[in-house]
Amino acid sequence: MRALTVIGNWKMNGSVRSNRNWMQTVIEEMQQGMPAGRRFGVCVPFPYLQECSHYLGSSQLQLGAQDVSAYASGPYTGEVSASMLQEMGVRFVIVGHSERRMQYGEANESIALKAEQALDHELTPIICVGETADERNSGRAVEVVRRQVASQVSTLQDRLVDCLIAYEPIWAIGTGKVASAQMAQDMHRAIRLQLAEFDDDVASHIGIVYGGSVRADNATELFAMPDIDGALVGGASLDAKEFLAICRA
Ligand code: PEP
Repeated sequence: MRALTVIGNWKMNGSVRSNRNWMQTVIEEMQQGMPAGRRFGVCVPFPYLQECSHYLGSSQLQLGAQDVSAYASGPYTGEVSASMLQEMGVRFVIVGHSERRMQYGEANESIALKAEQALDHELTPIICVGETADERNSGRAVEVVRRQVASQVSTLQDRLVDCLIAYEPIWAIGTGKVASAQMAQDMHRAIRLQLAEFDDDVASHIGIVYGGSVRADNATELFAMPDIDGALVGGASLDAKEFLAICRA
């Protein structure tokens, strides 16, 4: 049985004061009780990791980061290593978000190295894949996502089972245009079938979450799909109450 996982991605948002309010609201409500068998996380900007780790303590909400270096240590100015994240109490880390692929030229190969670094330090990599609007409109969505997934399989092999894959159609990120639940399910199914070509066990156990304009009012329908194991939530995760509503969906 795969656990439903809901992870917020604050992106480059937050402030010391607003983080405190958000954390207090979410932690207090989670203490009242959340649906059983689910995992919850929030990926915050690097400078807030220590502060947020302090707030989260032993709460049900786990700490995440939004990127990690492909290298263990050394002359990589501006980078943050997986061992540093581990020391901060981080449990999840996003790798290969489309904003990083498109704006910082991240390629499948370095994304797989980042995922390896994360796994070596007991962090769960959330590997993002997804197609652009042009790729979908020209009928190439599955082909594009297959290529992204294949590259991760070839590096990570059966360690993939300890990762999460986030299917995030780029045209749905931050646009308010959510993929229909059936459209998302179809891609999640295609990814699972692709993984089954490699290893049945990986295919049936890996969590595949959906990302792209998820809100409280569309989460229930998405989560009801058999191959959708939760969500990576960007904009809506900035609002504590909306994030909690998605966690309960
Ligand atoms: C994201 O950034 O991963 C994301 C899914 O964003 P949004 O929910 O705002 O579309």
